[in-house]
Amino acid sequence: MTKKTLSLYNTASRAKENFTLPEGIPEVRLYACGPTVYHYAHIGNLRTYLFEDLLRRSLEYFGFKVRHVVNITDVGHLTSDEDEGEDKMEKGATRTGQSVWEVAEFYTQKFKEDLELLNILPPTVWCKATDYIKEQIQLIENLEKKGYTYKTSDGIYFDSMKFPKYTEFARLDIVGLKSGARIDIGEKKFATDFALWKFSPKDKKRAMEWDSPWGVGFPGWHIECSAMSMSLLGETLDIHCGGTDHIRVHHTNEIAQSECATGKLFSRFWMHGEFLRENNTDKMSKSSGEFLTLDALVRKGFDPMAYRLFALTSHYRNYLNFSWEAMGNAVDSLGALRRKTDPFIGIEGNVKSVEAREWSSAFKNAIADDLNSSAAIGVLNLMLADSSIEDCEKAALIKEFDGVLGLRLLNKPEKVKRSAKEEAMAKELIEKRNVARIAKNWAESDRLRDELLSIGVVIKDGKNGTEWEWK
Ligand code: AMP
Ligand code: ZN
Repeated sequence: MTKKTLSLYNTASRAKENFTLPEGIPEVRLYACGPTVYHYAHIGNLRTYLFEDLLRRSLEYFGFKVRHVVNITDVGHLTSDEDEGEDKMEKGATRTGQSVWEVAEFYTQKFKEDLELLNILPPTVWCKATDYIKEQIQLIENLEKKGYTYKTSDGIYFDSMKFPKYTEFARLDIVGLKSGARIDIGEKKFATDFALWKFSPKDKKRAMEWDSPWGVGFPGWHIECSAMSMSLLGETLDIHCGGTDHIRVHHTNEIAQSECATGKLFSRFWMHGEFLRENNTDKMSKSSGEFLTLDALVRKGFDPMAYRLFALTSHYRNYLNFSWEAMGNAVDSLGALRRKTDPFIGIEGNVKSVEAREWSSAFKNAIADDLNSSAAIGVLNLMLADSSIEDCEKAALIKEFDGVLGLRLLNKPEKVKRSAKEEAMAKELIEKRNVARIAKNWAESDRLRDELLSIGVVIKDGKNGTEWEWK
């Protein structure tokens, strides 16, 4: 089996391309748009960070050194991506009764805890927008000097029609946009123009505001990613990623302002993770407040690795539909996988035989094909069933594959600790179910079994009565 080079789907070309580094570039300059820290990350957001972790681990598996930068958006993101609505951070402060700075700190910490629970590697550099105000102002000044900006009564705007390639990246329909110009665009010259700097309201002091050559205010959302990525990684990045929702506005605007400022290509590859949905709609959104957190899954007794496996079993460019049934299946698959890999915990070895090397190539080929994680998991399962390779080689292969999958297969899983209240609730429901079973009320018994499952209790009815355990 021949080893392939890593091929990645580039949103810019809408095609898979072989990934290599340009001459003289020692490490992959990787930038991922991070969270807006006004609320918990939901499991949809986390799916995107799982995809980016798969990418980072895969690049390292293919021998690249990676400089991975993730930003924390703690200012400037308004409730609409089109520069309108409330400031998300101020909204978070009103909701929680805390200051914007406290809100940012709290949700940043929660986000980092989620990443750790999901075994997502921390980036090489974390950066936050409020630490890079000077760089954002400099970038806007550069754009102003080159004639790409104009002023309205509420801010400094980027003149998108001065960047002829503006519509290219998202394949925007400029004719449609022009005919749709009837929509209220305020003082903007064109619908796709966007704020680089917003002025503070004259009658109100904002919780977050800074002096600038244009007056007191705050940066627009898009400028932070251009300023931070170029400060930390240079004017051209190798890979820039985020969720698919960023293609049309956020990444299009990042490209426009960065390329107009430098005259260089902003990013060689663009990669986007598709959305996690619930009930096949895009309902899971942070701003709607209706979403599931990783904490909620853990409280229901799910191992975060089951969510990781659930995400890995679909390709990152496909929609993934969340349901409790699908999570239940992921728990079963993880259990089955662990039963096969547990006997290899603590065994040391190397990949030596031709057969073992073939498995390694097969796994690599799956990942090489635009990070085909579900095919890679298939290879892992087939390899585990192969009796022709020695245990120490199997252990080495599990270690190698899990370096990419990150399922902690060679760690002993820790049982989630249950509170006395949870234990009491489980016992009460089991008791009620026993009563229903004695009364042959099967509908009630089934309903109680589902209720138990929803709080993380799995039951098995056997000859010696009902046994139960936490998932
Ligand atoms: P935010 O904190 O809202 O700025 O989003 C953080 C990341 O999550 C961004 O890369 C978004 O594109 C991504 N994202 C938002 N909603 C979803 C979803 N339902 N599924 C997958 N990714 C999402
Ligand atoms: Zn961004």
